[in-house]
Amino acid sequence: MTTQNDLIERDRKVTFHASTHLRDYAHGDAPGRVITGGKGIKIVDKEGRETIDGFAGLYCVNIGYGRTEMAEAIYKQALELSYYHTYVGTSNEPLIELSEKIIKLAGMGMSKVYYGMSGSDANETQLKIVRYYNNVLGRAQKKKVISRQRGYHGSGIASGSLTGLPAFHNHFDLPIDTIRHTEAPYYYRRSDAQANMSEREFAKDCAQKLEEMIFREGPDTVAAFIGEPVLGTGGIVPPPEGYWEEIQKVLAKYDVLLIADEVVTGFGRIGTDFGSHFYGMKPDLITVAKGLTSAYQPLSGVIVGDKVWSVLEQGTGEYGPIGHGWTYSGHPLGAAAGLANLEIIEREGLTQNAAETGAYLQQQLQATFGEHPLVGNVRGVGLLAALEFSPNKATRAQFAPALKVGPRISAAAVDEDLIARAMPHGDILGFAPPLVVTRDEVDEIIARAKRAVDRVTDELVKSGDFKA
Ligand SMILES: *Cc1c(COP(=O)(O)O)cnc(C)c1O
Repeated sequence: MTTQNDLIERDRKVTFHASTHLRDYAHGDAPGRVITGGKGIKIVDKEGRETIDGFAGLYCVNIGYGRTEMAEAIYKQALELSYYHTYVGTSNEPLIELSEKIIKLAGMGMSKVYYGMSGSDANETQLKIVRYYNNVLGRAQKKKVISRQRGYHGSGIASGSLTGLPAFHNHFDLPIDTIRHTEAPYYYRRSDAQANMSEREFAKDCAQKLEEMIFREGPDTVAAFIGEPVLGTGGIVPPPEGYWEEIQKVLAKYDVLLIADEVVTGFGRIGTDFGSHFYGMKPDLITVAKGLTSAYQPLSGVIVGDKVWSVLEQGTGEYGPIGHGWTYSGHPLGAAAGLANLEIIEREGLTQNAAETGAYLQQQLQATFGEHPLVGNVRGVGLLAALEFSPNKATRAQFAPALKVGPRISAAAVDEDLIARAMPHGDILGFAPPLVVTRDEVDEIIARAKRAVDRVTDELVKSGDFKA
């Protein structure tokens, strides 16, 4: 019988893995794992070991693993029509139905959906739309896009530039020169100068820094602002009170488009259909991906609001058909998966569950970790949460990166058969379980996480790196 180790040995020789220490993995110095199946909130590997997936893959398997209904919907569509392109007005039935559903769910003056395969490519489309829009309006200078430090928007040349994490820029000559990054709305990590600010004051301060940046760059050069309603990969940070209200005032003042990157928050994750609904955002453009199909098929979308759409129409009136398209835009199998996924979310009330069981998760995390000596901050909204570790609660100090506190706790959790993600920047443990999670499962996730955090706390005390 082929064992997991046999497979990993073969894999090390031939596969280039995402976000992996390439040398260590290729040479057997970093662990591997082969996943063979999943059911509900659990995945199972080649050795038959079951792990609770407290991060829903990469916050994407929202309806949980092993949904036969999804396989059937994809199979049925593949029997009928597995592919045809969507260029020059050619369409397919699941696509039409899916677009209607998305536009209806989004509201907010959204008008049309353009499809891609990933969040990264959807944000490439966003940048092209923003350029085209301003060219049609005769504003050749208005091309810069402001993102945030710690924002995550993908890892292509342009989408990776929007991302505000050093690991995605360093050694790749990014960001490209039309992208700027303003302050992250990260109240817990506010600077000494901001130490005495309330959340609201801090939110105003972020908005003021944005305004200063727009002014410095020249308002006639700033085209758009992109942000996730809740910072995701940058640390799972819900915005401080009043943040989006203050930011939107500045954007309106300088005629800057708002792109809401809802790749994580779209379709229920924080207890509303869109994160924009939760925070009262009025985006001009929305990016969706992960939650759209619960990752049963790769599919992303750019949702275009009326204001931008009418300019795109005007542009093609002047210049002819738009020079943008992917071979797989509007792929029928992706559309069938999206449709079946949204039906499940609606039928099973998963958005509501994200609100209710999410509130329970937040409350239990606070109760379990609020006073834990190693935990500096417990935060989250809906089924999106994080613990941030600190050697000193009062000063909010950070551990030396070399101690790898976050990754060690994440690894200890895996020993407890729980996946909780070590976020890439800072000692932060992230939780984003499938939206089907129950209260009992939340209890189990927290019990396992507690054992992992306690174990690493003990290790740090023993090694003299932490005084409890
Ligand atoms: C994951 C993510 C992306 C990129 O999506 P990919 O499918 O990995 O390209 C973009 N934006 C946000 C907010 C994300 O979380």
